[in-house]
Amino acid sequence: MALIVQKYGGTSVGDINRIRNVARRVAKTRQEGNDVVVALSAMSGETDRLIQLAHQAWDTPDLREYDALISTGEQITVALLALTLQSLGVPSKSFLGNQVRILTDSAFSKARIRKIEVRTLRQALKKGVVPVVAGFQGVDKEGNITTLGRGGSDTTGVALAAALKADVCEIYTDVEGVFTTDPNICPKARKMDAISYDEMLELASLGAKVLEIRSVEFAKKYGVVIHVRSSFNDNPGTLVMKEDKDMESVLVSGISYSKDEAKISVIGVPDKPGVASQLFSPLSLANITVDMIIQNVSQGGHTDLTFTVPKSDFKKALSLVEGVAGKIGATGVDSDDHISKISIVGVGMRSHSGIASKMFQVLADEGINIQMISTSEIKVSCVVDAKYTELAVRVLHEAFELAKKDVKMESSF
Ligand code: ADP
Ligand code: ASP
Ligand code: MG
Repeated sequence: MALIVQKYGGTSVGDINRIRNVARRVAKTRQEGNDVVVALSAMSGETDRLIQLAHQAWDTPDLREYDALISTGEQITVALLALTLQSLGVPSKSFLGNQVRILTDSAFSKARIRKIEVRTLRQALKKGVVPVVAGFQGVDKEGNITTLGRGGSDTTGVALAAALKADVCEIYTDVEGVFTTDPNICPKARKMDAISYDEMLELASLGAKVLEIRSVEFAKKYGVVIHVRSSFNDNPGTLVMKEDKDMESVLVSGISYSKDEAKISVIGVPDKPGVASQLFSPLSLANITVDMIIQNVSQGGHTDLTFTVPKSDFKKALSLVEGVAGKIGATGVDSDDHISKISIVGVGMRSHSGIASKMFQVLADEGINIQMISTSEIKVSCVVDAKYTELAVRVLHEAFELAKKDVKMESSF
């Protein structure tokens, strides 16, 4: 008998029929002799609707009230699933974040889980009751409701699995697993049988929203095996797990894209110590994360500095940078929010050269100009004009032969 945590995403609980489908799946897993704990998202579109409402009330909503509002979508789905399970004769009980006690810090709208008290859930399981836990929400030590950031119910699922020492965390979504790239923009994308935590972390942080990045961090830290699969059929999905020998020999395993960043360039910055710090300190004080940074070679004692920030922080970042640019003696500020970051990811890159140059060549052959580049041990990212996103993903997918299974080192140049 296994203990299984099942997390269902927004599409899987999008209406009452789909909730019934989830209930049947939960009941079946239980009939097969397993204990099940369920974590749910809100119905698809609901969190967006609540966010819009908050902004209609106030442009810059107070984040405590914002979280109190946007966490409510999950309260609806957990109660509906518990009711549906009961109607099928399966004892079930819904739990909100504060009822389980999913303790978080107080960083409203992007809170981090500090601890999960599993006693109540264990008691429910012992009585044969299926606990249905609201994803995405927690409670801080003052008792305030917090939320974990968009896509955060993946993190609830994996964190519950870690705290309960579950055998597996199944993430049910609207695609059949983790693909070599987003199957909704590249029809040739192939479902992977397994992917390492490190590769999944890179893909998630570079835009593949199939798993939220913190959920993968949790899984890696606590060794939780994640099974990403569809709630609409019984096909096996993708296992996210510790790297094994077979995975190492795969050169490029996936391609991500993100249109969620914007680019800011500070022109004619005096090339002297302390300037970068003066420029980036106000951004860090404002909690704005800077991603890619490039600094040109100095010419005549001046240089240009270009970096990217999340699009949601773009306006704020630009005004902060414009404020400081004059003070540090820069000649101007340029910006562009129509950019896209395309990334190739694979643990095989660690031991193989030529991958980055192949990526550059493939983009050049399509006349796609590369504006910025960054690399790590297992990824290469290029910023390009947003209008080339789909094209870039497709040609790279073709060039690295990702539609074929098990393309090993030999086949690269
Ligand atoms: P849920 O509501 O179930 O949490 P999400 O919309 O958050 O689902 O994530 C699933 C979506 O992730 C898919 O519909 C797909 O468009 C997108 N996606 C992006 N990259 C990938 C990838 N490499 N593999 C699978 N899906 C991906
Ligand atoms: N409902 C939340 C969101 O839309 C959390 C989630 O779906 O994972 O971001
Ligand atoms: Mg999601």
